[in-house]
Amino acid sequence: MHAIVVGAGPTGLFCAIALARRGHRVTVVDRDPGPPPSGPWQRRGVMQFEHAHTFRAPVIDALRAEMPDAVDALTASGAQIAAGPTGHTVALLCRRSTFERALSGMAARQAGVTRVVGTVERPYRPGSRVHGVVTGGRVLTGDVVIDASGRAARYLRGLRPETEGGDCGAVYATRQYRLHPGAEPGPVNSPIGLQLSMSGYAAIAFVHDGGTFSVTFTHDGTDTRLRRLREDVVFEAAVRAIPRLSDWIEPGRSHPLTPVLPGGRLYNSYRTQLGPGGTPLLPGLISVGDAVCTTTPLAGRGVTLALMQARALLHMLDEYADLDIDIDIDIAIDTVTARFDAWCERHVRPWFDDHRYADGERVRRWGGEQVDATRRLPSDLIVAAAEADPSLRPLVEPYATMAALPDSLAPAEARARAIFAAGWRPAVPPGPTREGLAEICDAHTFGLTGAVSRSPAAV
Ligand SMILES: Cc1cc2nc3c(=O)[nH]c(=O)nc-3n(C[C@H](O)[C@H](O)[C@H](O)COP(=O)(O)OP(=O)(O)OC[C@H]3O[C@@H](n4cnc5c(N)ncnc54)[C@H](O)[C@@H]3O)c2cc1C
Repeated sequence: MHAIVVGAGPTGLFCAIALARRGHRVTVVDRDPGPPPSGPWQRRGVMQFEHAHTFRAPVIDALRAEMPDAVDALTASGAQIAAGPTGHTVALLCRRSTFERALSGMAARQAGVTRVVGTVERPYRPGSRVHGVVTGGRVLTGDVVIDASGRAARYLRGLRPETEGGDCGAVYATRQYRLHPGAEPGPVNSPIGLQLSMSGYAAIAFVHDGGTFSVTFTHDGTDTRLRRLREDVVFEAAVRAIPRLSDWIEPGRSHPLTPVLPGGRLYNSYRTQLGPGGTPLLPGLISVGDAVCTTTPLAGRGVTLALMQARALLHMLDEYADLDIDIDIDIAIDTVTARFDAWCERHVRPWFDDHRYADGERVRRWGGEQVDATRRLPSDLIVAAAEADPSLRPLVEPYATMAALPDSLAPAEARARAIFAAGWRPAVPPGPTREGLAEICDAHTFGLTGAVSRSPAAV
């Protein structure tokens, strides 16, 4: 089979290497030429390239299953495998650029993979089927097009159904830093770094590879004063106002690697690939990764969901390749498309639905509303309730590690709701409230100083 893969992000590279290792011919097309042999990589096509990423355990599982040498390459580049208290793997700690560099390098060395630099303008459809893509006026033909073009592919606009979903209520400001030689990381409260659920916003330090880390603020974007977090001086003043986070950026410990990187207009989105009759809308083209579903970055599930999809798709393609009968490849691809779409409905859509509900509830809380224990409790609060009642841990952990779907939380919900109804709330770490953070933004923008609003825990 000759597969055209549109997109050389995590999903496209993973699919390309895995398909080539099965003996298929693969052409990967991306507008970005890939990492230069040395020096910085001015990556085109992915807004979140320099933003804080952490890669959950299923990402490592996927790499180990399909390309264990990628895990070796990543650890050789300084990535760390983080373990939980019982020694189980929790995450791969590295910058997204390190992750992509490793996979890009492997794809470049992989026999059977060819990379073409160019923007795909449209699918090539000589009849009713997609038989390739058009890039730079040139037609590249193949037996199947794997669309791994990410969250906002323009080349399929108008050819697919509109995505379901909407704004996830999370606006970002991130900055990358590097520890000085020999310096220890700052304080952590989880194997991936420091995650602080503040009053009205979140503040995070994620550990990455080779002594690098990133600090991120996430808020709902409604207070325009917080947009000034994108200014380096304002950002650093805000970090310094949060006791444990502040330790990470002490001048004696670390120095910035990037300016502050803003990120906004993020969506929970989901897209089916079938028409009303249950047949592929674009026969010959299969979307995978962010091209199917995106979820709030706050939970760091994107690459996990993408590689879970990629593994399921590869498995379905394998089943046809393994059949000892002559089967028409177009029929096989259409059958795989329908099966893959059904798989996504069962295994990916539940995460999208879960995010939509939990994000809506989070935005209400960030806006100052109280937890309403008479309503369905969102997943993050059911997980949080295990802090108050450790007997809930075995019930919430499969969800928290993404080993089980969101409905696995159902047996924990009644108890969690009772905990919240009794008045328990997760402790708010010391530091400014959202109003206080906004005041800091104002003060440091206009050169003012003064007292800022703090959460009760900080007083
Ligand atoms: C701020 C932010 C933080 C995030 N943090 C995390 C995290 O901590 N953990 C996590 O797991 N996930 C995180 N995610 C999600 C994660 O980044 C995505 O899930 C991931 O990028 C999906 O990979 P992909 O290969 O499907 O798509 P992409 O990474 O978007 O790659 C798509 C590729 O297709 C190319 N392309 C698109 N259109 C064309 C075209 N017409 N022609 C040629 N090339 C094209 C692009 O150049 C790009 O290389 C985060 C997302 C954001 C926005």
